[in-house]
Amino acid sequence: MNAFMDTAVDARLGDALQRYWGYGSFRPLQREAMEAILAGRDSIVVLPTGGGKSLCFQAPALVREGLAVVVSPLISLMKDQVDTLIGNGVPAAFLNSTLSSDQRRTVTEGVRDGRFRLLYVSPERLVGEGGEAFRAWLSRCNVSFIAVDEAHCISQWGHDFRPEYRQLAALRGQFPNASLHAFTATATARVRRDIASQLALHQPVELVGSFDRPNLLYRVLPRNALKKQLQAILGRHKGEGGIIYCTSRREVDALASWLSDSGVRALPYHAGLDDRERSKNQDAFLDEDIDVIVATVAFGMGIDRSDVRFVVHAGAPQSLEHYQQESGRAGRDGLEAECVLIYSTADFMKWRLMLERNGELTDSARKLLRDIERYAASVGCRHRHLVSYFGDTYERDDCGACDFCLGELESVAGAVDIARKVISCVARVGQRFGAAHVVNVLCGSTNEQVSSRRHHELSTFGLLKDSAVSEVRGYVEQLIAQGFLRQTDDQFPVIALTTEGVALLKDASAAAGLALSRQRRVVREREPRRSRVEAEAWEGVDRDLFEKLRAVRMQIARSRGVPPYVVFHDTTLREMARLRPQTLDALRTVYGVGARKAEDLGQYFLDALR
Ligand code: ADP
Ligand code: ZN
Repeated sequence: MNAFMDTAVDARLGDALQRYWGYGSFRPLQREAMEAILAGRDSIVVLPTGGGKSLCFQAPALVREGLAVVVSPLISLMKDQVDTLIGNGVPAAFLNSTLSSDQRRTVTEGVRDGRFRLLYVSPERLVGEGGEAFRAWLSRCNVSFIAVDEAHCISQWGHDFRPEYRQLAALRGQFPNASLHAFTATATARVRRDIASQLALHQPVELVGSFDRPNLLYRVLPRNALKKQLQAILGRHKGEGGIIYCTSRREVDALASWLSDSGVRALPYHAGLDDRERSKNQDAFLDEDIDVIVATVAFGMGIDRSDVRFVVHAGAPQSLEHYQQESGRAGRDGLEAECVLIYSTADFMKWRLMLERNGELTDSARKLLRDIERYAASVGCRHRHLVSYFGDTYERDDCGACDFCLGELESVAGAVDIARKVISCVARVGQRFGAAHVVNVLCGSTNEQVSSRRHHELSTFGLLKDSAVSEVRGYVEQLIAQGFLRQTDDQFPVIALTTEGVALLKDASAAAGLALSRQRRVVREREPRRSRVEAEAWEGVDRDLFEKLRAVRMQIARSRGVPPYVVFHDTTLREMARLRPQTLDALRTVYGVGARKAEDLGQYFLDALR
């Protein structure tokens, strides 16, 4: 692209970035994506959540003549995005079903008079009832380009197909002079091809970014004492924003009230709540009235809060694609954030049953489940695992931001021996019990179930009594993931032997590739290490001052009726608390402070800084 872009245009993009957003540089592929728009070439841009897609079309909208139209299915996000733009001094507006007819009229008049650089519209507005007349009108409004956000929704191969997106195919014919640009966070090659053909893109520039999110710290924990595990995580994030995903509404409600009772500002979110309460709780989270939202996966599409510092899954999602997307809501501001997957093998079983009931348990669905199961039980760098899963190579040896690389896991000596004890115990209880029971027998814990079956008399009773229950539970999961054991697909799944397991029982040398790991013991008692990113992100930052600046931001947000991140991102506040600027000029050089915001809000922050 650079070959035919003149440097003057490049400089104008850089100026816009600095002046309106206060950013001094481009994120990876942003420049290329913007240049495609300025050159009027159709494009498909795949960048991970938090990769900075919005800026890819917002900045060119300021440089290219005419009106930029943004199609986005996330109605709840439009207002925030437009408010943010206006706060930065960019004339923008949106049209969707939430506007009154007066508001609609104001916007359409503004568009007609060329007062806006960007117009956000919902797909319904474009292709629903009255869509044709609307498009005809819009096509006379000097539209320079159309950006289609969340473009994977157009493909039935994507994970969030929306039939109404299909009709966007009409755009190409109706806006022959506008270039079309598709943006998404997840798209395999097949989905990209589908997007290109559905939108009738003309020789699109394809830009596919890296899927790695270096600022996210990944941890995986076998689920044993969930509340204790959550307490440990929350203890690392006092007063910070976070999401806890659960797989059932019941668990959402239970955890949310338990958290509130323990003094955490938390609320539930799931499809069983009525619309009013749901959107009230969502707003409370966005406005930082609460810190933690406990939710089913219904929560998320359209969450723009950029300072989410942790995302916990209290139960595994059904694929790594889902995990990537949901955990990706953490740390969109580029600062450190923690993603913890707390899982048990039963989660995958639940998914299989559910998919089967809905007639959706295809081979590919099974494979997706096995892939995330393998991620959960694997022993190795999580960043590497995720990046290679999404078809990229990971260059680093030590990511500095996962439980494995931080030394929280250790390989267990004598893995073959342990594996044989576990497998033998499964055989002894007759392959008729679930993981919890097998683990009790191995650890020598007597309970009602064990004694009534006389399993305390088995030769395998207490064979692993020196290991913690959670450790042994982890071994069972890992042996399943490595194919030495399996869990049946029944409603009450039991652990059974596989051919490999039987072979290993007979012959200890049949253990090709077997490895077991556990959480390193000391880690459980002391505070875990911080990731490299976290250490860097706090370097030289006065924490008390940072909290003071957060309070100033909150006051401004309240008085203007916008979420705090619309005022300034955490990145900017931390930079202020690091550099302690004392004058308006000095403040302008802070990352994320554009000219407009310095003028508008600078004084409040300077007062706090002095
Ligand atoms: P996406 O839509 O790809 O998930 P966003 O557009 O919401 O990501 O951007 C994520 C965050 O990164 C936002 O807070 C945005 O302001 C910030 N950002 C985007 N581009 C840059 C940049 N070049 N420099 C610094 N911050 C950026
Ligand atoms: Zn790692």
